[in-house]
Amino acid sequence: MRLSSLSEFGLIEKIRKQLGSVGKRIGDDCAVVPPVKGWELLTTDALVEGTHFRRAWLTPEQIGMKAIESNVSDVLSKGGIPKYALVSLVLPASLPVSFVMRMYTGMKRAAKKYHVEIAGGNLAEGKQIVVSVAMTGEASKPVLRSGAKPGDFLLVSRPVGGALAGLRCLQRKKRFKWALQRFLYPQADMRSRKIAPYATAMIDISDGLLADLGHLCDASKVGAKVYADNLPIEECAQQVASALGEDAVRYALSSGEEYALLYTLPEESLGKTPGFLIGEITSKKKIQIRYQGRNLRIPSRGYEHFTSSRSD
Ligand code: MG
Ligand code: MG
Ligand code: MG
Repeated sequence: MRLSSLSEFGLIEKIRKQLGSVGKRIGDDCAVVPPVKGWELLTTDALVEGTHFRRAWLTPEQIGMKAIESNVSDVLSKGGIPKYALVSLVLPASLPVSFVMRMYTGMKRAAKKYHVEIAGGNLAEGKQIVVSVAMTGEASKPVLRSGAKPGDFLLVSRPVGGALAGLRCLQRKKRFKWALQRFLYPQADMRSRKIAPYATAMIDISDGLLADLGHLCDASKVGAKVYADNLPIEECAQQVASALGEDAVRYALSSGEEYALLYTLPEESLGKTPGFLIGEITSKKKIQIRYQGRNLRIPSRGYEHFTSSRSD
């Protein structure tokens, strides 16, 4: 059955049934939720067909999971706990109803993992699929991008590079199972709870380590020195890079949709958080990458909408 043969309200009813307790608030003019303790966090992120995914690459479940994970990651990156999600979908009328239900299966799976409630949303018809999720969260001590100080250390919460390795596998039709898994099932990083009490600044890696370090440094009005020899690189990224004759260090520096956390710590907090020490914050407003005793030149910092092409 195609969406064109079902009414909008029929579809909403199906979605509500599908989500069960995760969607118990769906159906009123707006979602009514209790106030948070501490600071309220608000974020939104969209997955656009052709820009972020292709139907040939991702299953509907994977699209749904990714849409939730990317928003959860933004909440976790501020040291927050994710709470409610609003899901706005743009869908072609020719899309099978089962495709939409399977996207919600993915969203439900990811939402359950983080105890997020899908509290409402919107449906509209359009030429390509757009999954736009808005999410709320709460934090007692939010960690912003802007708190890094010269002399702080720079850490990354877990090894990186796998997401780009997976994307390269899809582009070059290579079957490296772990790399593909990393691209198809990105995971937000729950280590944020152990990091947030100590971090002076934090950001999730969605555009690429270097690009997001740039955002953090701009917001904090500082620079950074990265010791690329110390970058924790995922094994699957090493394998794919060497199979394609590419450079795993560049993967680690530019891989987006990683959702690892990049954060800064004052010296006295070193050793108290999970992660890998990869550099330091400097007062000189410039990012320097040291690699094998030399300064590394990286032409592009990572993915930028309107100027980069991702899915081709
Ligand atoms: Mg975005
Ligand atoms: Mg972010
Ligand atoms: Mg984001």
